Amino acid sequence: MDRRDALMKMFSAKGVKVNTNRGEAYYSKLKETMQKRLNELRNAPAASKVDINKVLEAEGLTRRDFMKWASAACAAMMLPASFTPLMAEAAELMNRVPVIWIELQDCAGNSEAILRSDAPTIDELILETISLEFNETLMAAAGHQAEEHLDEAMKTFAGKYLCVVEGSIPLHMDGQYGTIGAKGETFEEHLLRVAGSSAAVVAVGTCATFGGVPAAAPNPTGAVGVQDIVKGKPIINIPACPANPANITGTILHFVLTGQVPELDHLNRPKFAFGYRIHDNCERRAHFDAGEFVEAWGDEGAENNWCLYKMGCKGPMTFNNCSVVRYNSGTNWPIGAGHGCIGCSEPQFWDKYAQERPMADTHFKAPTGGVEKTVDEFGLGLLTVAGIGIGIHAAISAAAGKKEEV
Ligand code: SF4
Ligand code: SF4
Repeated sequence: MDRRDALMKMFSAKGVKVNTNRGEAYYSKLKETMQKRLNELRNAPAASKVDINKVLEAEGLTRRDFMKWASAACAAMMLPASFTPLMAEAAELMNRVPVIWIELQDCAGNSEAILRSDAPTIDELILETISLEFNETLMAAAGHQAEEHLDEAMKTFAGKYLCVVEGSIPLHMDGQYGTIGAKGETFEEHLLRVAGSSAAVVAVGTCATFGGVPAAAPNPTGAVGVQDIVKGKPIINIPACPANPANITGTILHFVLTGQVPELDHLNRPKFAFGYRIHDNCERRAHFDAGEFVEAWGDEGAENNWCLYKMGCKGPMTFNNCSVVRYNSGTNWPIGAGHGCIGCSEPQFWDKYAQERPMADTHFKAPTGGVEKTVDEFGLGLLTVAGIGIGIHAAISAAAGKKEEV
Protein backbone atom coordinates (compact mmCIF):
# COMPACT_ATOMS: atom_id res chain seq x y z
CA MET A 1 0.00 0.00 0.00
CA ASP A 2 1.55 3.36 -0.94
CA ARG A 3 1.41 6.40 1.33
CA ARG A 4 -1.60 8.01 -0.36
CA ASP A 5 -3.58 4.76 -0.01
CA ALA A 6 -2.52 4.44 3.66
CA LEU A 7 -3.57 8.03 4.37
CA MET A 8 -6.87 7.66 2.54
CA LYS A 9 -7.60 4.46 4.49
CA MET A 10 -6.85 6.26 7.74
CA PHE A 11 -9.01 9.28 6.86
CA SER A 12 -11.85 7.00 5.83
CA ALA A 13 -11.57 5.08 9.13
CA LYS A 14 -11.85 8.43 10.92
CA GLY A 15 -14.81 9.47 8.77
CA VAL A 16 -12.84 12.25 7.04
CA LYS A 17 -13.93 12.64 3.44
CA VAL A 18 -10.87 14.22 1.86
CA ASN A 19 -12.56 15.14 -1.41
CA THR A 20 -15.79 16.57 -0.16
CA ASN A 21 -15.63 17.39 3.54
CA ARG A 22 -15.31 21.14 2.96
CA GLY A 23 -17.45 21.51 -0.11
CA GLU A 24 -16.69 22.35 -3.71
CA ALA A 25 -16.84 26.14 -3.24
CA TYR A 26 -14.13 25.99 -0.54
CA TYR A 27 -11.77 23.95 -2.70
CA SER A 28 -12.31 26.01 -5.84
CA LYS A 29 -11.52 29.23 -3.90
CA LEU A 30 -8.44 27.57 -2.41
CA LYS A 31 -7.32 26.45 -5.85
CA GLU A 32 -7.69 29.99 -7.15
CA THR A 33 -5.59 31.37 -4.26
CA MET A 34 -2.90 28.76 -4.89
CA GLN A 35 -2.82 29.37 -8.63
CA LYS A 36 -2.41 33.12 -8.04
CA ARG A 37 0.37 32.54 -5.52
CA LEU A 38 2.21 30.09 -7.81
CA ASN A 39 1.96 32.54 -10.74
CA GLU A 40 3.56 35.23 -8.59
CA LEU A 41 6.33 32.87 -7.49
CA ARG A 42 6.96 31.65 -11.04
CA ASN A 43 7.60 35.23 -12.12
CA ALA A 44 9.83 35.96 -9.14
CA PRO A 45 13.57 35.36 -9.44
CA ALA A 46 14.71 31.99 -8.10
CA ALA A 47 16.58 32.48 -4.85
CA SER A 48 18.47 29.23 -5.53
CA LYS A 49 19.53 27.58 -8.78
CA VAL A 50 18.82 24.03 -7.59
CA ASP A 51 16.24 22.38 -9.85
CA ILE A 52 14.10 19.62 -8.29
CA ASN A 53 13.73 17.82 -11.63
CA LYS A 54 17.52 17.55 -12.00
CA VAL A 55 17.84 16.40 -8.36
CA LEU A 56 15.23 13.67 -8.93
CA GLU A 57 16.88 12.58 -12.17
CA ALA A 58 20.25 12.29 -10.43
CA GLU A 59 18.61 10.01 -7.84
CA GLY A 60 17.08 7.81 -10.57
CA LEU A 61 13.52 8.93 -9.77
CA THR A 62 11.02 9.33 -12.60
CA ARG A 63 8.33 11.95 -13.24
CA ARG A 64 5.81 9.22 -12.32
CA ASP A 65 7.49 8.77 -8.91
CA PHE A 66 7.32 12.54 -8.43
CA MET A 67 3.62 12.74 -9.33
CA LYS A 68 2.87 9.81 -7.00
CA TRP A 69 4.64 11.73 -4.25
CA ALA A 70 2.62 14.89 -5.08
CA SER A 71 -0.59 12.89 -4.85
CA ALA A 72 0.43 11.47 -1.43
CA ALA A 73 1.46 14.96 -0.27
CA CYS A 74 -2.06 16.19 -1.12
CA ALA A 75 -3.60 13.41 0.95
CA ALA A 76 -1.24 14.18 3.85
CA MET A 77 -2.39 17.80 3.74
CA MET A 78 -6.03 16.70 3.44
CA LEU A 79 -6.39 18.08 -0.09
CA PRO A 80 -8.31 16.33 -2.86
CA ALA A 81 -6.34 14.49 -5.56
CA SER A 82 -7.23 17.24 -8.06
CA PHE A 83 -4.62 19.43 -6.28
CA THR A 84 -1.79 17.08 -7.36
CA PRO A 85 -0.54 19.24 -10.30
CA LEU A 86 -0.49 22.33 -8.02
CA MET A 87 1.45 20.40 -5.38
CA ALA A 88 4.00 19.27 -8.00
CA GLU A 89 4.39 22.85 -9.19
CA ALA A 90 4.82 24.09 -5.62
CA ALA A 91 7.65 21.58 -5.15
CA GLU A 92 9.26 22.89 -8.34
CA LEU A 93 9.02 26.45 -6.99
CA MET A 94 10.41 25.65 -3.52
CA ASN A 95 13.61 27.39 -4.59
CA ARG A 96 11.72 30.73 -4.67
CA VAL A 97 11.21 30.78 -0.89
CA PRO A 98 14.32 31.80 1.05
CA VAL A 99 14.97 29.97 4.31
CA ILE A 100 17.29 30.97 7.12
CA TRP A 101 17.89 27.97 9.41
CA ILE A 102 19.43 28.70 12.80
CA GLU A 103 20.64 26.24 15.42
CA LEU A 104 20.46 26.94 19.12
CA GLN A 105 20.71 24.54 22.11
CA ASP A 106 20.34 21.22 20.27
CA CYS A 107 22.03 18.09 18.93
CA ALA A 108 21.37 18.96 15.23
CA GLY A 109 19.30 15.75 15.14
CA ASN A 110 16.65 17.27 12.88
CA SER A 111 19.24 18.34 10.30
CA GLU A 112 20.94 14.96 10.64
CA ALA A 113 17.68 13.05 10.13
CA ILE A 114 17.27 14.81 6.81
CA LEU A 115 20.90 14.69 5.72
CA ARG A 116 21.96 11.18 6.70
CA SER A 117 19.43 9.22 4.70
CA ASP A 118 21.25 6.92 2.27
CA ALA A 119 18.07 6.57 0.21
CA PRO A 120 16.46 9.99 0.56
CA THR A 121 12.71 10.26 0.10
CA ILE A 122 11.25 12.82 -2.28
CA ASP A 123 10.34 14.89 0.83
CA GLU A 124 14.02 14.96 1.79
CA LEU A 125 15.14 15.74 -1.77
CA ILE A 126 12.66 18.61 -1.97
CA LEU A 127 14.07 20.04 1.25
CA GLU A 128 17.45 20.07 -0.52
CA THR A 129 16.04 22.41 -3.15
CA ILE A 130 14.82 25.16 -0.84
CA SER A 131 16.84 28.30 -0.99
CA LEU A 132 18.78 27.73 2.19
CA GLU A 133 20.39 31.12 2.66
CA PHE A 134 21.99 30.29 5.98
CA ASN A 135 22.54 27.01 7.85
CA GLU A 136 25.55 26.63 10.14
CA THR A 137 25.64 22.83 9.81
CA LEU A 138 25.77 22.87 6.02
CA MET A 139 27.50 26.04 4.89
CA ALA A 140 31.20 26.26 4.20
CA ALA A 141 31.52 29.79 5.59
CA ALA A 142 32.49 30.29 9.22
CA GLY A 143 33.23 33.14 11.63
CA HIS A 144 32.90 36.73 10.35
CA GLN A 145 32.15 35.50 6.83
CA ALA A 146 29.14 33.51 8.09
CA GLU A 147 27.88 36.46 10.12
CA GLU A 148 28.13 38.76 7.11
CA HIS A 149 26.29 36.21 5.02
CA LEU A 150 23.47 36.06 7.58
CA ASP A 151 23.16 39.87 7.73
CA GLU A 152 23.13 40.06 3.95
CA ALA A 153 20.43 37.36 3.58
CA MET A 154 18.27 39.01 6.25
CA LYS A 155 18.54 42.34 4.45
CA THR A 156 17.92 40.97 0.94
CA PHE A 157 14.93 38.85 1.91
CA ALA A 158 13.51 40.96 4.76
CA GLY A 159 9.87 40.07 5.44
CA LYS A 160 9.98 37.20 2.91
CA TYR A 161 12.11 34.44 4.41
CA LEU A 162 11.08 31.59 6.65
CA CYS A 163 13.09 31.45 9.86
CA VAL A 164 13.57 27.75 10.71
CA VAL A 165 14.77 27.18 14.26
CA GLU A 166 16.31 24.01 15.65
CA GLY A 167 17.06 23.85 19.40
CA SER A 168 15.85 25.39 22.63
CA ILE A 169 16.77 28.77 24.10
CA PRO A 170 18.61 28.85 27.45
CA LEU A 171 17.50 31.83 29.56
CA HIS A 172 19.29 31.26 32.89
CA MET A 173 22.43 33.27 33.73
CA ASP A 174 21.31 36.00 31.31
CA GLY A 175 21.45 33.53 28.46
CA GLN A 176 25.19 32.85 28.88
CA TYR A 177 24.67 29.08 28.51
CA GLY A 178 24.49 29.68 24.76
CA THR A 179 26.16 32.46 22.77
CA ILE A 180 26.98 32.78 19.11
CA GLY A 181 29.32 34.83 16.94
CA ALA A 182 32.18 37.20 17.64
CA LYS A 183 29.94 39.64 19.52
CA GLY A 184 28.79 36.96 21.95
CA GLU A 185 25.13 37.35 21.04
CA THR A 186 22.99 35.11 23.28
CA PHE A 187 20.75 32.53 21.62
CA GLU A 188 17.75 34.57 22.74
CA GLU A 189 19.11 37.76 21.11
CA HIS A 190 20.10 35.81 17.98
CA LEU A 191 16.64 34.25 17.65
CA LEU A 192 14.78 37.52 18.26
CA ARG A 193 16.92 39.29 15.65
CA VAL A 194 16.56 36.64 12.93
CA ALA A 195 12.87 35.92 13.64
CA GLY A 196 12.15 39.67 13.75
CA SER A 197 12.64 40.22 10.00
CA SER A 198 11.12 36.93 8.86
CA ALA A 199 7.71 36.23 7.31
CA ALA A 200 7.07 33.37 9.75
CA VAL A 201 8.97 31.17 12.18
CA VAL A 202 9.06 27.37 11.89
CA ALA A 203 10.23 25.66 15.09
CA VAL A 204 11.57 22.25 14.11
CA GLY A 205 11.99 19.40 16.61
CA THR A 206 10.82 19.19 20.21
CA CYS A 207 13.65 21.32 21.66
CA ALA A 208 12.66 24.33 19.53
CA THR A 209 8.95 23.79 20.04
CA PHE A 210 8.63 22.94 23.74
CA GLY A 211 12.17 23.01 25.16
CA GLY A 212 12.64 19.24 24.67
CA VAL A 213 15.35 17.30 26.51
CA PRO A 214 17.30 20.45 27.55
CA ALA A 215 14.16 21.63 29.39
CA ALA A 216 13.80 18.34 31.32
CA ALA A 217 13.90 18.67 35.13
CA PRO A 218 15.82 20.28 36.70
CA ASN A 219 16.34 22.30 33.50
CA PRO A 220 19.70 23.80 34.55
CA THR A 221 19.94 26.19 31.59
CA GLY A 222 16.36 27.48 31.85
CA ALA A 223 15.60 26.14 28.37
CA VAL A 224 12.37 27.22 26.67
CA GLY A 225 10.86 26.87 23.22
CA VAL A 226 10.59 29.49 20.47
CA GLN A 227 6.95 30.37 21.18
CA ASP A 228 7.86 31.29 24.75
CA ILE A 229 9.91 34.26 23.60
CA VAL A 230 9.06 35.18 20.00
CA LYS A 231 5.94 37.33 19.87
CA GLY A 232 4.09 39.06 17.03
CA LYS A 233 5.10 36.54 14.32
CA PRO A 234 3.26 33.50 12.98
CA ILE A 235 4.87 30.46 14.62
CA ILE A 236 4.49 26.91 13.34
CA ASN A 237 5.61 24.11 15.64
CA ILE A 238 6.78 20.85 14.09
CA PRO A 239 7.75 18.80 17.14
CA ALA A 240 9.12 15.22 17.42
CA CYS A 241 12.58 13.97 18.10
CA PRO A 242 13.50 14.29 15.29
CA ALA A 243 10.80 16.12 13.34
CA ASN A 244 9.67 14.06 10.38
CA PRO A 245 11.05 15.54 7.10
CA ALA A 246 7.61 14.92 5.54
CA ASN A 247 6.05 17.32 8.05
CA ILE A 248 8.74 19.97 7.52
CA THR A 249 8.30 19.70 3.73
CA GLY A 250 4.49 19.76 4.06
CA THR A 251 4.61 22.95 6.13
CA ILE A 252 6.98 24.74 3.76
CA LEU A 253 4.95 23.54 0.75
CA HIS A 254 1.81 24.95 2.34
CA PHE A 255 3.58 28.30 2.68
CA VAL A 256 4.73 28.10 -0.97
CA LEU A 257 1.20 27.23 -2.10
CA THR A 258 -0.72 29.82 -0.10
CA GLY A 259 1.76 32.31 1.39
CA GLN A 260 0.16 31.48 4.74
CA VAL A 261 0.73 29.11 7.64
CA PRO A 262 -1.31 25.88 7.67
CA GLU A 263 -4.22 25.36 10.04
CA LEU A 264 -2.76 24.86 13.53
CA ASP A 265 -3.89 23.16 16.74
CA HIS A 266 -3.79 24.76 20.21
CA LEU A 267 -0.03 23.98 20.42
CA ASN A 268 0.65 25.65 17.05
CA ARG A 269 1.20 22.29 15.35
CA PRO A 270 -0.10 21.83 11.76
CA LYS A 271 -3.34 19.89 12.00
CA PHE A 272 -2.55 17.95 8.84
CA ALA A 273 0.30 16.22 10.70
CA PHE A 274 -0.69 16.42 14.37
CA GLY A 275 -4.47 16.27 14.12
CA TYR A 276 -4.73 12.62 15.11
CA ARG A 277 -3.32 10.33 17.78
CA ILE A 278 -0.72 7.62 17.40
CA HIS A 279 -3.12 5.23 19.18
CA ASP A 280 -5.89 5.80 16.59
CA ASN A 281 -3.78 4.63 13.67
CA CYS A 282 -1.49 2.13 15.34
CA GLU A 283 -1.06 -1.25 13.73
CA ARG A 284 -1.18 -2.84 17.22
CA ARG A 285 -4.52 -1.24 18.12
CA ALA A 286 -6.51 -4.44 17.58
CA HIS A 287 -4.38 -6.06 20.30
CA PHE A 288 -5.11 -3.17 22.70
CA ASP A 289 -8.82 -3.60 22.04
CA ALA A 290 -8.51 -7.36 22.50
CA GLY A 291 -6.59 -7.00 25.77
CA GLU A 292 -3.41 -8.57 24.36
CA PHE A 293 -0.36 -6.85 25.84
CA VAL A 294 3.40 -7.25 25.94
CA GLU A 295 4.11 -7.86 29.66
CA ALA A 296 7.93 -8.15 29.51
CA TRP A 297 10.54 -7.55 26.84
CA GLY A 298 11.01 -10.70 24.78
CA ASP A 299 7.81 -12.44 25.96
CA GLU A 300 5.22 -14.12 23.75
CA GLY A 301 3.36 -10.82 23.33
CA ALA A 302 6.53 -9.07 22.14
CA GLU A 303 7.18 -11.87 19.64
CA ASN A 304 3.64 -11.49 18.33
CA ASN A 305 3.63 -7.68 18.09
CA TRP A 306 0.96 -7.19 20.76
CA CYS A 307 0.11 -3.82 22.27
CA LEU A 308 2.91 -2.02 24.15
CA TYR A 309 0.69 -0.04 26.53
CA LYS A 310 1.84 -1.94 29.63
CA MET A 311 5.47 -1.38 28.58
CA GLY A 312 4.87 2.36 28.73
CA CYS A 313 3.58 3.22 25.25
CA LYS A 314 2.20 6.79 25.27
CA GLY A 315 0.50 6.48 21.88
CA PRO A 316 -2.89 7.18 23.51
CA MET A 317 -1.69 10.63 24.66
CA THR A 318 0.43 11.58 21.64
CA PHE A 319 -0.59 13.45 18.52
CA ASN A 320 1.58 12.77 15.46
CA ASN A 321 1.41 11.00 12.11
CA CYS A 322 4.42 8.64 12.43
CA SER A 323 2.19 5.58 12.31
CA VAL A 324 1.23 6.52 8.76
CA VAL A 325 4.18 8.51 7.41
CA ARG A 326 6.88 6.52 9.28
CA TYR A 327 10.62 7.27 9.26
CA ASN A 328 13.66 6.25 7.18
CA SER A 329 12.09 6.37 3.75
CA GLY A 330 8.83 5.03 5.20
CA THR A 331 10.56 1.82 6.31
CA ASN A 332 9.41 1.68 9.91
CA TRP A 333 8.59 3.61 13.06
CA PRO A 334 9.24 3.11 16.79
CA ILE A 335 6.17 0.98 17.59
CA GLY A 336 6.70 -1.05 14.41
CA ALA A 337 10.24 -1.73 15.63
CA GLY A 338 8.96 -2.98 19.00
CA HIS A 339 9.20 -0.03 21.41
CA GLY A 340 6.33 2.05 22.72
CA CYS A 341 5.85 5.68 21.77
CA ILE A 342 7.53 8.03 24.27
CA GLY A 343 5.36 10.99 23.32
CA CYS A 344 8.21 12.94 21.75
CA SER A 345 5.89 15.40 19.99
CA GLU A 346 4.20 16.54 23.22
CA PRO A 347 5.27 19.27 25.69
CA GLN A 348 7.43 18.04 28.62
CA PHE A 349 7.74 14.62 26.99
CA TRP A 350 10.99 13.70 28.70
CA ASP A 351 9.64 14.20 32.22
CA LYS A 352 6.09 13.00 31.61
CA TYR A 353 6.22 10.28 28.98
CA ALA A 354 9.71 8.87 28.37
CA GLN A 355 9.48 6.01 30.86
CA GLU A 356 8.81 2.34 30.27
CA ARG A 357 5.69 2.28 32.41
CA PRO A 358 2.11 3.22 31.69
CA MET A 359 0.91 6.76 32.32
CA ALA A 360 -1.51 5.40 34.92
CA ASP A 361 1.49 4.14 36.94
CA THR A 362 3.03 7.63 37.25
CA HIS A 363 2.05 10.72 39.20
CA PHE A 364 1.29 12.52 35.92
CA LYS A 365 -2.20 12.62 34.56
CA ALA A 366 -3.19 12.39 30.91
CA PRO A 367 -3.28 15.95 29.51
CA THR A 368 -6.95 16.22 28.68
CA GLY A 369 -10.21 14.51 29.47
CA GLY A 370 -12.13 12.59 26.86
CA VAL A 371 -10.61 9.57 25.23
CA GLU A 372 -7.15 10.08 26.77
CA LYS A 373 -8.71 10.03 30.23
CA THR A 374 -10.63 6.89 29.42
CA VAL A 375 -7.50 5.16 28.15
CA ASP A 376 -5.56 6.34 31.19
CA GLU A 377 -8.20 4.98 33.54
CA PHE A 378 -8.35 1.78 31.54
CA GLY A 379 -4.57 1.58 31.97
CA LEU A 380 -4.93 2.12 35.73
CA GLY A 381 -7.41 -0.71 35.73
CA LEU A 382 -4.91 -2.87 33.93
CA LEU A 383 -2.37 -2.23 36.64
CA THR A 384 -4.64 -2.56 39.66
CA VAL A 385 -6.97 -5.33 38.59
CA ALA A 386 -4.70 -8.09 37.35
CA GLY A 387 -5.42 -9.09 33.82
CA ILE A 388 -8.50 -6.94 33.32
CA GLY A 389 -7.59 -6.46 29.66
CA ILE A 390 -7.24 -10.15 29.19
CA GLY A 391 -10.36 -10.55 31.31
CA ILE A 392 -12.38 -8.36 28.98
CA HIS A 393 -10.98 -10.22 26.00
CA ALA A 394 -11.71 -13.56 27.70
CA ALA A 395 -15.24 -12.42 28.59
CA ILE A 396 -15.90 -11.39 25.00
CA SER A 397 -14.46 -14.69 23.74
CA ALA A 398 -16.50 -16.63 26.30
CA ALA A 399 -19.65 -14.73 25.32
CA ALA A 400 -18.91 -15.43 21.67
CA GLY A 401 -18.32 -19.10 22.54
CA LYS A 402 -21.65 -19.28 24.43
CA LYS A 403 -23.40 -17.72 21.48
CA GLU A 404 -21.93 -20.38 19.24
CA GLU A 405 -23.03 -23.13 21.66
CA VAL A 406 -26.66 -21.90 21.67
S1 SF4 B 1 -1.03 1.69 23.37
FE1 SF4 B 1 0.65 2.06 21.92
S2 SF4 B 1 1.14 0.05 21.01
FE2 SF4 B 1 -0.88 -0.09 22.00
S3 SF4 B 1 -2.31 0.36 20.36
FE3 SF4 B 1 -1.97 2.27 21.44
S4 SF4 B 1 -0.32 3.25 20.32
FE4 SF4 B 1 -0.31 1.11 19.68
S1 SF4 C 1 6.10 6.99 17.86
FE1 SF4 C 1 5.94 8.56 19.50
S2 SF4 C 1 8.03 8.75 20.34
FE2 SF4 C 1 8.20 7.73 18.33
S3 SF4 C 1 8.56 9.37 16.86
FE3 SF4 C 1 6.32 9.04 16.91
S4 SF4 C 1 5.57 10.50 18.47
FE4 SF4 C 1 7.78 10.34 18.78
